[in-house]
Amino acid sequence: MPLIALDLDGTLVDQASAARAWAHGFVRGWGLPTHEVDVVTTALTERHPKDEVFARLVDRLRLPTSADEVWRRYRTEMPSLVTVNDDDRRALAELRAAGWTLGIVTNGMADNQEGKIRRTGLDTLVDGWVISDVVGARKPSPVIFHALAERLGCPLDGWMIGDSLEFDVAGGAGVGLQTAWIDSDGSDATSFQPDLVVQSVAAAAVTILDSSAMA
Ligand SMILES: [Mg+2]
Repeated sequence: MPLIALDLDGTLVDQASAARAWAHGFVRGWGLPTHEVDVVTTALTERHPKDEVFARLVDRLRLPTSADEVWRRYRTEMPSLVTVNDDDRRALAELRAAGWTLGIVTNGMADNQEGKIRRTGLDTLVDGWVISDVVGARKPSPVIFHALAERLGCPLDGWMIGDSLEFDVAGGAGVGLQTAWIDSDGSDATSFQPDLVVQSVAAAAVTILDSSAMA
C-alpha cells in the first residue's frame, strides 16, 4: 500500500518541550544560572548534528566533563521526556486502518530515537522506522528514504510529513513523495514548496484521508 513517511522530532513528538525539560534538569544539576535554560534549549532545538552542539556547550560552560558524556546522558533521558498527543495517535490509527503503510524516517542516534519511538508507543502505531545513525545517511539524502521503503517493503509512493523544509519537504520531494509541512513556527516556506501546510500530523491525516477517499 502507499507509504506515509513521517519525521519524528517536532513532528510526531514534542521535541522542543522535551528539550526544555531536559535543559531545566541539566542547568539545575550543574548549578548553572537559570538563564542558561533558554540558551541550552535553543542550542538543542537547532538542526545541527548533536555532537557539535554538545561539544560547544561543554566548551562554553567549561564543564568538568566530556561532551560525549553529556550527549550520552541526553540520549538516555530524552526518551522519557517526549510525548505524542492523542489526536496524532488517533490519526496514525486511522491512516493505517485506511490501508496506508506508516514509517518513521529520522535523523539522529539509534539509542535516543528508538528509545523515543518505543517509550511513546509509536512502535505499535507504525510499520517500521529508519534512523540515520543506523543507515549511514541523513535526510535529505535519498538514501535514507530508499532504506525506509526497503524496510517496509513498499514503493516510495505517497507522502512525507515533517517539520523541516530542508530535510523533510525537500528530502521527500526529492524521492517523488508528496509533502506535508508541519508549520510549527510560522517560518517562511518559500525555499521549498510543500504540497500541504498543516499544524499537526492529525491535520495532515484529515487531508490525506479526504483526498484518497476521493481518488
Ligand atoms: Mg523534525
